[in-house]
Amino acid sequence: MEMSRRRFMILGASAATLAAIPLAGTTAAGAAEQVSPAEALRRLKLGNTRSASGKLVAKNYSPLGSTPAKGQQPFAAILSCGDSRVVPDNIFDTAPGNLFVVRNAGNVCEDVGLGSLEFAAAALGVSLIVVLGHTHCGAVVASERSIISGDLPPTHLDDFVRRIIPAVEDLPPGHSTNDSIAANASYQARKVESRSSTISRMTSTGKLGIVSGIYGLGSGQVTWLQE
Ligand SMILES: [Zn+2]
Repeated sequence: MEMSRRRFMILGASAATLAAIPLAGTTAAGAAEQVSPAEALRRLKLGNTRSASGKLVAKNYSPLGSTPAKGQQPFAAILSCGDSRVVPDNIFDTAPGNLFVVRNAGNVCEDVGLGSLEFAAAALGVSLIVVLGHTHCGAVVASERSIISGDLPPTHLDDFVRRIIPAVEDLPPGHSTNDSIAANASYQARKVESRSSTISRMTSTGKLGIVSGIYGLGSGQVTWLQE
């Protein structure tokens, strides 16, 4: 009984309520001045320029300094593929404590990840969510193969494939894999906003931005799809 009541309460939580969730190691939004979505994107672009040119400094923007036990106040959240070659903290050249990173195969919008992004936005105060796809993404390629064969992969592999197929199945004949990767990143970004009332409320006021981009494995550069 207690569990179900608690579950109901969390499901109905407002952004203000989420911000009050007492999780160890976190700092509620508002502890320091929040940057604008445009400033967060500017930081990521500058960091990616450093990273792609090999001039890494792991810049630290945290108002809490570099002592992890003080808490965290990341300025951006990243939903990226779990591919071992895609490491957001390195791609954007930021120190620990600056990015809240959610990863899975294909950078798909699924429930646990979406809840994590809500937490990052409402409780930690990130001002930008980035859905980050990447070139040579095996999850997207597997999804396209499923469309062609008509078969879904076994066990739980089908979960991310099912979430990618709607993003790519209507692309015109002859499209490239990179077209599919870009379509998937944009689609998942739209899903993050449309499926979360917490996030859409924050984007509607301009407090939170959502963008998508593609990380080039060869170039090290992020191509931004929409801003
Ligand atoms: Zn991938």
